[in-house]
Amino acid sequence: MRFGLCVVLGAALALSACGKEGGAGGVDGALIASPPEGEWLSYGRDYAEQRFSPLDQIDTANVNQLGLAWYADLDTARGQEGTPLVIGGVIYHSTAWSKVKAFDAKTGNSLWEYDPQVPGETAVKACCDVVNRGLAAWGDKLFIGTLDGRLVALDRATGTEAWSVVTVDQSKPYTITGAPRVVDGKVLIGNGGAEYGVRGYVTAYDADTGEELWRFYTIPGAPEEAADEPEYLAKARETWNGEFWKNGGGGTAWDAMAYDPELDLLYIGVGNGAPWNQAYRSPGGGDNLYLSSIVAIRPDSGEYVWHYQTTPGETWDYTATQHIMLADLEIDGQQRKVLMQAPKNGFFYVLDRETGELISADNYVPQSWTTGIDMKTGRPIEVAEARYDKTGQPYIGTPGPGGGHSWQPMAFHPDAGLVYIPAILSAFPFIPEENWEADMHRGLNLGIDMGAGAMSADLKVREDAAKATKGALIAWDPVAQKERWRVSHPAPWNGGVLATAGGLVFQGDAGGNLVAYGAMDGRELWSFHAQTGILAPPITFTVDGEQHIALLVGYGGVWPLSPSGVVGEQAGAKPNISRLLVFKLGGEAELPPAPPLNRRPLDPPPFRGTEQQVTSGAYDYGRYCGGCHGDAAIGSTVLPDLRRSAVLESRQAWQTIAHDGALKDNGMVSFAPSLDEEQIENIRQYVIKRANEDRALERQARESGA
Ligand code: CA
Repeated sequence: MRFGLCVVLGAALALSACGKEGGAGGVDGALIASPPEGEWLSYGRDYAEQRFSPLDQIDTANVNQLGLAWYADLDTARGQEGTPLVIGGVIYHSTAWSKVKAFDAKTGNSLWEYDPQVPGETAVKACCDVVNRGLAAWGDKLFIGTLDGRLVALDRATGTEAWSVVTVDQSKPYTITGAPRVVDGKVLIGNGGAEYGVRGYVTAYDADTGEELWRFYTIPGAPEEAADEPEYLAKARETWNGEFWKNGGGGTAWDAMAYDPELDLLYIGVGNGAPWNQAYRSPGGGDNLYLSSIVAIRPDSGEYVWHYQTTPGETWDYTATQHIMLADLEIDGQQRKVLMQAPKNGFFYVLDRETGELISADNYVPQSWTTGIDMKTGRPIEVAEARYDKTGQPYIGTPGPGGGHSWQPMAFHPDAGLVYIPAILSAFPFIPEENWEADMHRGLNLGIDMGAGAMSADLKVREDAAKATKGALIAWDPVAQKERWRVSHPAPWNGGVLATAGGLVFQGDAGGNLVAYGAMDGRELWSFHAQTGILAPPITFTVDGEQHIALLVGYGGVWPLSPSGVVGEQAGAKPNISRLLVFKLGGEAELPPAPPLNRRPLDPPPFRGTEQQVTSGAYDYGRYCGGCHGDAAIGSTVLPDLRRSAVLESRQAWQTIAHDGALKDNGMVSFAPSLDEEQIENIRQYVIKRANEDRALERQARESGA
């Protein structure tokens, strides 16, 4: 227990006594594979990404004495999704807008800050808020992928830039929100943007120099590339039809990676197709490899080894970018090296991670698109009406594109034998759009009509939708493929999970509660009110012999911003107050009182437009505006609620912003490349109409005393 001793001796002594500890001699592969128990060296704590800590000082008996040790206010008020790292008594974390902070983990003293100066106008390329999920460490450096597509190496001691490379074509709608990983001195980074139209890949860079070493494309490219492409892409090409490359095709690897040092396999999770609607992406169908797949590759060379496709020919935004976790499980009397994933499509998969063979799969949330998985072929048995791309008819799908589970990390407790899934229960209207055409300048490229599927103006329908949309923390037995317990959450968009040897599972929720549950039974043992919705997963570490729990808080991300965000607020989700919170037993710090939520009243000008304007405005609103300003113009507390905007009264001011780009540095770019002044005015008329409808509903509700 060399590392345990280091922890007891404290950070100062550890530097001399324990040369291999992360803080001193630098982070390497052996340390990430088997991290010191008091540290958190990589995104998922170790290469297996189990998010299980062996620390047990905080346990089921004393967790009720957990209190705030210190906190730090952050300078960004957008979704905080990051996992902090703790190395040698220092806590490092990323924030929204790809900033990085370093604090003394014991005192909370700020050590340094780094701001990559991401241009505000990058926000329009981000489907799901300007979030960042974390850092990687190697040697004496830290690595971050920035929203505008750079991979930056920082000196861990000072926060100064060591090198920076651009990993994407910045003229295209690529973004980076995921944490890099490092294997054998190679920094691995993917990217996002499949909702707009890009081609996905993962790139490896030399950790010392930033030199590009290899690039692994997840889908084939333009036909002229066919002659030189590796065999795995040539095989994939046979599963695509039409001119798929013109709209990018998708397959972005924007989040999950894991690594098995013994097998020397790197696992990446691949995202959805671009556009979603397969009728436009690959007319006539096809599996469209390697969309929605888990792919195993050699980290040295980027060579393909195997894949498992969770959703062949995906058309529902059913990404397989969700958390990939490795574990050794006893299944049918045999020790199996498995890989586990709960992707968006609603099924929990257990694969043999050496071969990619499907061991088992069952649905962890209700799902309507299949009657199950065919265990002989490993393929889903699809329900015909789910293929709106083939029928041309609307389809209400469960899960929706938000998935049964999104990026929020799961955790595994080896003693309990349970995986804890931050699950989402929801449905969504997939309404295929006739004669759809891509727009590679601005806005979503989905091939479905987001305006037509907007949240109803009928209050009853909205209430019913809110009631049907929930979240849950599900304790899943991966061997039996059965739920063991669950905690229901009123809102869908909750936090990632941490499990500890103290018999605890920690998760925050949209309502702002960080809760400790018993790992075996889900009993609530402690909670803390953070004043703001929680998305990020907690971590745990030791400093000076004391175990701490830390996490970022601050509501945001895709759900509050985009379609159906309103259901979260109806269910009590709390607005953004971004902070880093650190807890220990007997901690006595207190948060200041929560500031009041100052929202402009719903007081729109009278509607004087035409129905024709509203029809045009509703379509363009759904395609170009709703992703950030909310379904049916029902804005969130994170970004401006246009119904309440002072600018709504002035055609001129509205044009200055939406057409001329007056607020581009805030992320609100000019939409002139895609929309003319008349279309932009029609959107204003649509929002005025919607605002008047909602004000009438507010009055009705007030008069009926609701
Ligand atoms: Ca997606």
